[in-house]
Amino acid sequence: MPYLDPASVQLTIPTGFTAPDLSFKYFLVTGTGKYFKNVQYAPDVNLGLLRIAPDGETAEVLWGFSDGGKFTSELPAHLMSHVSRLSVDPENRVVMHCHPANLLAMTYVHPLDERAFTRTLWQMCTECVIVFPDGVNVLPWMLCGTNEIGLATAEKMRTARLVVWAQHGIYGAGKDLDETFGLIETAEKAAEIYMKIAHLPILQTITDEEMHLLEGRFGVKAREGYLD
Ligand SMILES: [Zn+2]
Repeated sequence: MPYLDPASVQLTIPTGFTAPDLSFKYFLVTGTGKYFKNVQYAPDVNLGLLRIAPDGETAEVLWGFSDGGKFTSELPAHLMSHVSRLSVDPENRVVMHCHPANLLAMTYVHPLDERAFTRTLWQMCTECVIVFPDGVNVLPWMLCGTNEIGLATAEKMRTARLVVWAQHGIYGAGKDLDETFGLIETAEKAAEIYMKIAHLPILQTITDEEMHLLEGRFGVKAREGYLD
């Protein structure tokens, strides 16, 4: 039995940008001003199911936002990132944004150079180079909720599944919610370790030689030029 009548559009909202690649695609998105923790208690209030109209610039709301709400202000960054990730991997169906405390803290005290930032995270925890061999891309502080940060995030999403927004948060992409949450959690744990040890004398770390051993054992390839 179908859960939804795809012909029954509750309302249409302009997205404010054009993404013809997403026409006819469905997206389950959180509402603006909503908290992820409340989704489990009231999914129809905190989520909305959208379909992008044939014009590529109108969201058709099919379900949800039942208190009269609207989609997240970060919809441009989400949808533009979907375009990027789907062009790289058609299985990347999830784009998640959140504000993990230790990754944020790291953007105050660590250089934002992407290679350096990635290498530090890889060195904090053995699993990191295996879980995100493409590394982490980083944007400097930008005004959020705009098409500009959406375009910049989408560009960064072409080469990595993780994009840090300095002093704000992170975007992660993956094939399902579980994998994407795990991806962000792994980077966040590495950042937590960094914040615990960055001010202490470092006596040893995971060497590049050891990273290459991990590549061989787990069949991953670290981003070109990121290991010596
Ligand atoms: Zn945010």
